[in-house]
Amino acid sequence: MRARILIIEDDSFSRDLVKFLLEAAGYSVLVAEDGNIGLSMALVSKPDLIICDLQMPVMNGYDVVRGLAKNADWRRVPLIAVTAFSMRGDREKALAAGFDEHISKPIAPENFISQIEAFLPESLRSGRRLRH
Ligand code: MN
Repeated sequence: MRARILIIEDDSFSRDLVKFLLEAAGYSVLVAEDGNIGLSMALVSKPDLIICDLQMPVMNGYDVVRGLAKNADWRRVPLIAVTAFSMRGDREKALAAGFDEHISKPIAPENFISQIEAFLPESLRSGRRLRH
């Protein structure tokens, strides 16, 4: 079974690019345009992995992971920060907040799927590869 992946991202260009790459690789994608919607979707839709921006209106990415962690219904899945915050210390800050990985924008499209699949069990990987 291929993973269902939730993208929480306020920037439409980044959101569309990540969605395109994941769908082209065979994944099922859900999208949320801000952290508050994303937190609700994560709890209701129970995705297999979450990709989350950090800087967003309404609720930022750090508050999304905190909100998930303190919710009794939350069954933990890999949480990947994809963010323009890529100064010294930003990676550590994201990992300390509860993210499993920190990927800097701009993403590298040729590497992105394997970076994400590293956090998926074999049974949830699509096995599909983009042609270059
Ligand atoms: Mn943003």
